[in-house]
Amino acid sequence: MEICSKCSSPSFYTRRYSGEKFCEVHFKESVISKVSRTISKYGMLKYGERVGVAVSGGKDSLSLLLIMEKLCRKKGLELTALTVDEGIEGYRDEAISNATSITKKLGIRHVVVSYRELFGFTLDKALRQDDRDVSSCSFCGVMRRRAIDEAALRAGVNVVATAHNLDDFVQTFLMNLLHGDVERLGFMSPSYKDGAFPLRRIKPMMELYEEETALFAYLSGIPFQSVSCPYMHEGLRSEVRDFLNQLEAKHPGMKYVLFNSCMEVISHFNISKEKSKPCKFCGMPSSSGICGTCRMARLVRGGV
Ligand SMILES: [Zn+2]
Ligand SMILES: [Zn+2]
Repeated sequence: MEICSKCSSPSFYTRRYSGEKFCEVHFKESVISKVSRTISKYGMLKYGERVGVAVSGGKDSLSLLLIMEKLCRKKGLELTALTVDEGIEGYRDEAISNATSITKKLGIRHVVVSYRELFGFTLDKALRQDDRDVSSCSFCGVMRRRAIDEAALRAGVNVVATAHNLDDFVQTFLMNLLHGDVERLGFMSPSYKDGAFPLRRIKPMMELYEEETALFAYLSGIPFQSVSCPYMHEGLRSEVRDFLNQLEAKHPGMKYVLFNSCMEVISHFNISKEKSKPCKFCGMPSSSGICGTCRMARLVRGGV
């Protein structure tokens, strides 16, 4: 029988790239301390900051919420959960109710904003009339990012944590390369702030493998969603994910090496502040004078 590297209990999980073995208790502890180390390493949180966690209600974001609740309590930082209701019938309601019950249980303030109130349409409605060449995920990604910003400003938080894990991070990096979006690599900085905008975005779970965030969620009793998003069609991303998983299976630790290489490349990017100018419709930072959110919202409303 294999034994936990930290105690004499039987181990149930081996971190293949490091050889460490864990019992359930020490596995959960190691995940929390890894997130804590990532936060310190990249200076993600500062004393006195008001922290928001973007909570979709999926397993990753609820895991992040549990972890941040522990870490913020220790550091004496105020924490708010931020949720966006895109308006996806039969899918989003379940996630929101999971998020609501967990925030209630933990006694965390929960701010929910909806596409309908912010933009005047639900995602269901936008995609029904959408015959343009934009995928539902990229459309929703742009709108959700703005909605989280709005929720954060309303809640008075100045740093927003999102639940991107190491797998998400390296996939996005490769996707940007494969799409030729080299400029976007600059936005992947671990503690990103647009010069003009009062919010910082951080990714405290970015050094954790997806399989470990999933296992943490499972061991923490976080409910897994019974349905997946009806609009999800990931195309290239799922091919990139499969490719990386195949490499990792053959060469344990390769994703982690790639992650470090990505960080090295990203650190050479310095987004110049002059590049960003306020959007003429909403005043938020944009590269061309009209931000992506307003461009898309105007297309949906028919007011191009
Ligand atoms: Zn143990
Ligand atoms: Zn705008």
